[in-house]
Amino acid sequence: MTDQRVLIIGGGIGGLTTALALARREIRVDLVEQAAGVGGHAARLACKATERCVKCGACLADQTIAAAVAHPWIRLYTACRVAEIRRSDRYRYTLAQDPRQDRPARTLPGEADAVVLASGFQTFDPSGKPYGYGLYPDVITNLELEGMLREGGGLRRPSNGAAPGRMAFIQCVGSRDATLGHLWCSGYCCAAALRAARLLKHHRPALDITIFYIDIQTFGRDFELVYAKAREEIRFVRAIPADAFQGEGATLRLTWVETSVKGAVEEEFDLVVLSTGMTPRPQTAELATSLGMAPPAAGFLRSACLGAKGAFVVGAARGPMGIADTIADAGRVAWQIVRFLEGGR
Ligand SMILES: Cc1cc2nc3c(=O)[nH]c(=O)nc-3n(C[C@H](O)[C@H](O)[C@H](O)COP(=O)(O)OP(=O)(O)OC[C@H]3O[C@@H](n4cnc5c(N)ncnc54)[C@H](O)[C@@H]3O)c2cc1C
Ligand code: SF4
Ligand code: SF4
Repeated sequence: MTDQRVLIIGGGIGGLTTALALARREIRVDLVEQAAGVGGHAARLACKATERCVKCGACLADQTIAAAVAHPWIRLYTACRVAEIRRSDRYRYTLAQDPRQDRPARTLPGEADAVVLASGFQTFDPSGKPYGYGLYPDVITNLELEGMLREGGGLRRPSNGAAPGRMAFIQCVGSRDATLGHLWCSGYCCAAALRAARLLKHHRPALDITIFYIDIQTFGRDFELVYAKAREEIRFVRAIPADAFQGEGATLRLTWVETSVKGAVEEEFDLVVLSTGMTPRPQTAELATSLGMAPPAAGFLRSACLGAKGAFVVGAARGPMGIADTIADAGRVAWQIVRFLEGGR
């Protein structure tokens, strides 16, 4: 048993898994989450099981939340932010928690021997970019599709509530894009689109699905198998449409250059899903600086330590990561923290 404490900023799968690994070693954890509930993006994903589990990892979030909420060594503060933090012999901080029905807003002082930045990522916002997101109701993001699937009401066109007959996924929206300075591959969105498309086909075989892509990233558990199965039932077009336009009636028209016919091709779809990539949260670099870290000038934090004694970074705040990699990263970082607390660093 120890009286050492760790503050974790961010209650996604990265922060929660780190908290559990530390708590299981009898290290006390205070975890601060800005949203009303913990789980981060992973808690907003739908199960993609068809006739069997496709190992998307989404249910790991529910299991991890339940374990963290029940653990006596973890205190969760939701709807809460770090208002101030500085390091002397330990980290001393003040939390600012939003009001609830049963109490007003409050500030809470605290101290910690180590701090973990687990603030994750935000999805690329395609508003004001090509494809008319925000202009055409039937252009939605992959996160919005997850919400529809999670609700279980079936796939619907937001414009009129009807089931779509033809739909398209456009990959790499906000990733691998030199014009945005986003050169990275977000890693998760090929697998997420394929699993979602296969699930939709499983429920409605007549649904016509096209995936527009640059190349399909096939890393991850069993993913080659998922991809091989997907190619039997989904059309893959190796091109990225330039834009979306209002088509005939209520449809959306996509135009792209097809190398096989050496020319432009145009087709109409009822629903278009933008596979938006991971981008760094703007506040993360600021938080890292206040912890004494030296974050890179732009982009993700990349490294787990960044030169500050007792401050660590975990999960997608470091760079694009899927759920399994985030859990593995949390295990490694928790081990580094234990060594640090034992005076081994
Ligand atoms: C549409 C979509 C589909 C996906 N599908 C899959 C999939 O099938 N399989 C897979 O492996 N991965 C998938 N992913 C990726 C998966 O969501 C990430 O791997 C995972 O969420 C990373 O966890 P994280 O904890 O690092 O970050 P996040 O999930 O972003 O969690 C970070 C948390 O920190 C909180 N936070 C941020 N800043 C602060 C602050 N200043 N103070 C307090 N709290 C803060 C946030 O509110 C959030 O709760 C998908 C992602 C998306 C968007
Ligand atoms: S790993 Fe994914 S597909 Fe498998 S049961 Fe969990 S949520 Fe469903
Ligand atoms: S995972 Fe696929 S869709 Fe996502 S950025 Fe990489 S190549 Fe593009």
